[in-house]
Amino acid sequence: MRKARPSILILSGSILFYVLSFLFTLFVHLQIVTLSKTLLFLIPLVSGIFAYTIFYFIIKRFLQYRMSLIYRSIQNLDNAQRKDQTIDELVAQGEQDVQEWKQKRNQEIEKLKEQAAFRKEFLGNLAHELKTPVFSIQGYIDSLLEGGMEDPEILKKFLERAALSTDRMTHILEDLDQLTKLELERIPLEIRSFDFLDLLKETFETLELIAKEKQFRLRIEATDPFCYVNADRNKIGQVLLNLTSNAISYGKDGGQLMVSVLQIDNTYNIEFKDDGDGIEPEHLPRLFERFYRVEKSRNRNEGGSGLGLAIVKHIIESHGGQIQVASQVGVGTTFTFRLEKSKATGPVSSRGIPLK
Ligand code: ATP
Ligand code: MG
Repeated sequence: MRKARPSILILSGSILFYVLSFLFTLFVHLQIVTLSKTLLFLIPLVSGIFAYTIFYFIIKRFLQYRMSLIYRSIQNLDNAQRKDQTIDELVAQGEQDVQEWKQKRNQEIEKLKEQAAFRKEFLGNLAHELKTPVFSIQGYIDSLLEGGMEDPEILKKFLERAALSTDRMTHILEDLDQLTKLELERIPLEIRSFDFLDLLKETFETLELIAKEKQFRLRIEATDPFCYVNADRNKIGQVLLNLTSNAISYGKDGGQLMVSVLQIDNTYNIEFKDDGDGIEPEHLPRLFERFYRVEKSRNRNEGGSGLGLAIVKHIIESHGGQIQVASQVGVGTTFTFRLEKSKATGPVSSRGIPLK
């Protein structure tokens, strides 16, 4: 149905009023007093114009008043600035504002629905991840209470295994705590200049033993002898630790990780390239979600809880960057991100001040 413009409606009403008043004047002219021809047409015309003006202003005031009440209740907005608008503009503007308001509310509802679904999934995942270590601790304690304690060897073995499970729970809770803090931006970044290669070597040293067990090679390729970046050293350290330990955990025995650091404009492009089994394309879009693990590693119970890459993504994004993943099954996986290059070219103090 076509929308009638309020001014047209008022005009139609006024014409009707004009016709009625013409008939009434004609009636007076024929039955009561004789009027001149001019008066016969002038009286209905004046009353028609008068009716139009009165209708227009009364309806406009009425609309303005009612709309300002609606605006205040839905938008916390005053529509006082709309006083100069004509009645048609007023109604058209009102309709447009309501449409916009409806769209915004719909978007908010969608967002709330998504958050609710996310919360449900998150709680489900959390319960699932904590259940495994809790059940295993419970199992060991029950076995010990049922007589296993008598044998000192079993006692030691089971206690060690229970301790491993508590370590796993602590690891999950610490990661979650960190993710939450990162999301709420409770941990401010401590940006300073540091040598990225130095941090990378430190990370490799931390994981040296685990890498050796698998005869896994950790290699670095860089365009510059020092690669100074402006970033939070501790947090980037965590990124490097997560990416390197993933490459080792999901890599094959005798495999390798090549980290290349390449200067591009005023950034360093950092690439973690491994020669592991790779990841199927359908998993890639969800890889950085909390608790997401590729089915294969989940089944084999490899790795942790699926929080590592979620933390990595948060840290890189809080530095204003982005992390990308590319993978080919049977060839390997590559993670890429960029960090801002710092002006320093030589050693700097712990506060980022050049030493030479
Ligand atoms: P966490 O890091 O929290 O201890 P996780 O290693 O399982 O646990 P993420 O680091 O977030 O979790 O990794 C998510 C999933 O992505 C892993 O379970 C693994 O299946 C897959 N993945 C990550 N890195 C690689 C890689 N380099 N090669 C193959 N698969 C990988
Ligand atoms: Mg990991």
